[in-house]
Amino acid sequence: MIVAIDGPAGAGKSTVARSLADRLGFRYLDTGAMYRALTWLALNDGVDLEDGSALGLLAEAARISFDGERVLIRGHDVTEEIRQAEIDRVVSTVARHPQVREVMRDRQRELAEQGDAVIEGRDIGTVVCPDADVKVYLVAEAAERARRRVADRPEIGAEALATDLRLRDQRDAAQMQPAPDAETIDTTELDVEEVVDRIERLVQERAKASK
Ligand code: C5P
Repeated sequence: MIVAIDGPAGAGKSTVARSLADRLGFRYLDTGAMYRALTWLALNDGVDLEDGSALGLLAEAARISFDGERVLIRGHDVTEEIRQAEIDRVVSTVARHPQVREVMRDRQRELAEQGDAVIEGRDIGTVVCPDADVKVYLVAEAAERARRRVADRPEIGAEALATDLRLRDQRDAAQMQPAPDAETIDTTELDVEEVVDRIERLVQERAKASK
């Protein structure tokens, strides 16, 4: 079974997806980490972030792998580095190139085909796994999303973080649409357990329906 969890940054995707995967005993796949790792490599190699062809080639050549919670690209463990504000600010520039998305989509589908998984991203329910068994689109009010980010990135001021989030939303808008058959959950006033409970119920309903 594939559970697709999409939505903007700060809506709670990672925390919820991890916890749900744990509960269900499913694999957890963070597709944002793949775009972040590629961005790290492009910066490291001095590749022009506006050059879609060069980035597409880089994506094809560089192996991205997961080792538990660790993220590796071309043999480098980039788990911590890809969470830095420098990456937050430019990852959407890399992710918007069709050449990059095509490579990522194929890789993500291969990973999805390996069995039960909770997959989080922006376009999982629409593009990567349009046949996902359960599709959820998480949203939250802008102020709450910014507040959560402050907890994740304590070194950066709240205003700068709110601006970064707004800019990233604008840049991600093209690939950030809920699938028509996704269940939208507003997490603004919910805690993690409540959101995970709701999605778990959707998973159970789906499992019953397909028996
Ligand atoms: O989810 P996270 O904030 O780590 O994602 C980082 C960036 O990767 C997003 O802002 C977006 O530009 C890109 N992304 C994407 N498609 C996905 C996952 C992430 O374009 N499925």
